[in-house]
Amino acid sequence: LGGSISRAIQQMSNATIIDEKVLNDCLNEITRALLQADVQFKLVRDMQTNIKKIVNLDHLAAGHNKRKIIQQAIFNELCKMLDPGNPPFTPKKGKPSVVMFVGLQGSGKTTTCTKYAYYHQKKGWKPALVCADTFRAGAFDQLKQNATKAKIPFYGSYTESDPVKIAVDGVDRFKKENCDLIIVDTSGRHKQEAALFEEMRQVSEATKPDLVIFVMDSSIGQAAFDQAQAFKQNVAVGAVIVTKMDGHAKGGGALSAVAATKSPIIFIGTGEHMDEFDLFEVKPFVSRLLGMGDLSGFVDKIHEVVPTDQQHELVQKLSEGNFTLRIMYELFQNLSKVGPIGQLFSMLPGFSAELMPEGFEKESQQKNKRYMTMMDSMTNEGKLIAAYLLIRNL
Ligand code: GDP
Ligand code: MG
Repeated sequence: LGGSISRAIQQMSNATIIDEKVLNDCLNEITRALLQADVQFKLVRDMQTNIKKIVNLDHLAAGHNKRKIIQQAIFNELCKMLDPGNPPFTPKKGKPSVVMFVGLQGSGKTTTCTKYAYYHQKKGWKPALVCADTFRAGAFDQLKQNATKAKIPFYGSYTESDPVKIAVDGVDRFKKENCDLIIVDTSGRHKQEAALFEEMRQVSEATKPDLVIFVMDSSIGQAAFDQAQAFKQNVAVGAVIVTKMDGHAKGGGALSAVAATKSPIIFIGTGEHMDEFDLFEVKPFVSRLLGMGDLSGFVDKIHEVVPTDQQHELVQKLSEGNFTLRIMYELFQNLSKVGPIGQLFSMLPGFSAELMPEGFEKESQQKNKRYMTMMDSMTNEGKLIAAYLLIRNL
């Protein structure tokens, strides 16, 4: 998706004159990419209409930077699709909050509950997990296993069959124990059936969650909108977490879920492990999608791999574009331990992972010209880093 969209923008930027045709070609290309990624048709059509309304080429006085205006309009519309403007309830450290997870069976609820708890625990919270899934055999064992591994207190029962009772008892207990993030995992079953929604409503009424999080598997495609809407109609969904973003899912369903629930995505799941869980932020995400880079994400990665006492200096140098090859060499040696260089590259201005040539890490000289071309569209920081990678791959 990122590749096709940033290519469309690039093509527009390369055109000598920006006229109606160039704009239409660009928008059609983006539309096609979004539809192929399973974004709901109506959303895509609305976006296209909005952009055309904003970018009225006939009325733009000469001297206006049309490319910039178009790019900005596309950026804003994509942000609007992902940010419905309803910031969700944010739990406060030290103050007890109840967060209830809902979603179909297999969507990744139980896994995500633990990831969410673990994420906060690392930041000094006191989370706890309650298993209110009495429908699936082994549900409690699964949560218990996850919780034990992460050393997070948990509550559940092998004998009690009433999910409402378990949920209430668990929440009460952990409130008494001064936990500040009490997470209630619920049953999902196979389909959107009346009994599931009834159970969900009851658990929600009894535990009065501060936040209900809808968990969705990113690979469900066009079914996303209806599924998300059905959940929203039954409980007060306030936020979305999209799972399995590491797979081959096209991810467009996520945008539909946002529209259907009028709730933002707060995290994404990128693997089965506890720490394969990322905070989701709209602007950096859209920037990357458009090939505009995400220096803040890049800086976050640096924080992960650079010793604390050296971070400040490094970030300073990065933001000044004041890099020596020696610094870059050390940095990249560490960075390549965290993830594929291609993924990191996509955070740099003018890049998207899909633009990377196949087998990049083992590139040979004959393709170096392609890097040069790509680098032409990058900012100075990006160029420097690309230059370094180029040298290392020679
Ligand atoms: P639940 O039925 O909604 O509670 O779903 P589970 O938490 O039991 O997850 C179903 C399956 O999806 C399990 O095998 C998980 O390991 C897997 N899973 C959950 N989240 C992710 C993710 O982000 N990436 C991948 N690859 N697998 C995931
Ligand atoms: Mg489960």
